Amino acid sequence: MEQTLRDRYEVVIGLEVHAQLLTQTKAYSSDINAYGSAPNTNVSAITLGHPGTLPVMNRRTIDFAIRLGLACGCNIAPTQHFARKNYFYPDLPKGYQITQDTTPICTGGQILIRTDNGSQKSIGLTRIHMEEDAGKSIHDVDVYDTLVDLNRAGTPLLEIVSEPDLRSSTEAYNYLTEVRKLLRYLDICDGNMEEGSMRCDANVSVRLVGAKDFGTKVEVKNMNSIRNVQRAIEFEIIRQIEALESGETLTQETRAFDAIKGCTISMRTKEAANDYRYFPEPDLPPITVSVAQIQEIANQMPALPHVLFERYTKTYGLSDYDAYNITDQKGLALYYEALISETKNYKAAANWLMGEIKSYLNENGIDISEFPIAPGRITALIALIDEGKISNSIAAQRLFPALFDSSETPLEIAERLNLIQSSDSSVIEAFISTVIEQNQDEVARYRNGEKQLIGFFMGQLMKVSGGKADPKAANGLLKQKLDS
Ligand code: ADP
Ligand code: MG
Repeated sequence: MEQTLRDRYEVVIGLEVHAQLLTQTKAYSSDINAYGSAPNTNVSAITLGHPGTLPVMNRRTIDFAIRLGLACGCNIAPTQHFARKNYFYPDLPKGYQITQDTTPICTGGQILIRTDNGSQKSIGLTRIHMEEDAGKSIHDVDVYDTLVDLNRAGTPLLEIVSEPDLRSSTEAYNYLTEVRKLLRYLDICDGNMEEGSMRCDANVSVRLVGAKDFGTKVEVKNMNSIRNVQRAIEFEIIRQIEALESGETLTQETRAFDAIKGCTISMRTKEAANDYRYFPEPDLPPITVSVAQIQEIANQMPALPHVLFERYTKTYGLSDYDAYNITDQKGLALYYEALISETKNYKAAANWLMGEIKSYLNENGIDISEFPIAPGRITALIALIDEGKISNSIAAQRLFPALFDSSETPLEIAERLNLIQSSDSSVIEAFISTVIEQNQDEVARYRNGEKQLIGFFMGQLMKVSGGKADPKAANGLLKQKLDS
């Protein structure tokens, strides 16, 4: 599509995210909440909704919802009311889901994202409410029949509904990245879209730039990665603009994304939408959340990624790039926190973490939680560099790899491997004499005014000394010798 045509339209997106909570048991029963168990093994009469059974609220679900609400600056409702959402489906044995309708646990609040041009933007949250998942219908295992696995039925979910504040597919991508990061920092959801523990419905509409009212929205489902949400939105934007340009009126509908074809397909229109006949859940009395309970959860909140980002850039002087990459994964941020509790050289700590350590993780295909070197040994290595005992390059090339083979301190290893560099002038002067002897031509040119050759001499000096001459001391001595 021509950019000029596309530029005449403004894109409006609101996202609904479902997050499966990492509780031990299900939302309203003591059935185990686990992914990957043998089909239909974590299923009791309560999950099946047999007559005579009663749901009991899992308090952890409420705690997790409050944790997320506090992290996003939401208002927390003092009393939790539950509602029945009724519909028939083979993977919903009860015939209804217990959810929250008009009284979500969290309202308001926001998620901070980066926009296309790198600036920050706040995306409003409409609501976060608690509900339970349905079971899973499996269409692609048996050739003739659809199979049903009810292990997932009753898994606690949070539904996070954004305001229609997003204005591009990239913003939607960044929003989901931030939501997932937050869920992981808070330890309430593993954020794995491939396994379905985080799911997203994208509401997309377009309108002429300057138009007052929103356009008709389409809801797109069935994306199993953040990248595919972005692709689905991109497809929708073009489809909707083309439809409007050819004089069609869009209808409110639900569409599914086909990841292989890269297109969306209509599932149902608004007229065919379910009427869920919500009514107050009679089996689950309202639950009060005290101020003290909220305060206790607030006291136990971990540091959040955007707070760490602020501190790393403002207080520690890291670049936005470094701070963003370190806070991108909670494990990296925790390791960095451990490093800077033992060194004030914040920049060096960031460089080692995002340089040598990250490369090691990538090469070995492991997570930072599996990295075998304690932070204290990395900071001891940084201290050796800062004290001028070892050069940065020798530390990276020789000392860092040696840390994995020995439990000695970095200093002990450096001494054993004879890596300690000398700032002792008599030792360095001997190296300098060698360099001057071996490079008579360059010495003459230097003395004739080609002062930039100092870099060449430093290089030679490092070569001759095997990287063990302290560059600061060597530089001064070298100039002295050459200028005399
Ligand atoms: P519904 O009644 O169809 O569930 P809601 O008003 O509850 O619709 O909104 C659901 C989601 O759709 C929210 O995330 C909201 O921000 C988003 N949304 C609402 N209107 C639009 C629109 N015109 N274009 C894009 N997104 C929208
Ligand atoms: Mg709605």
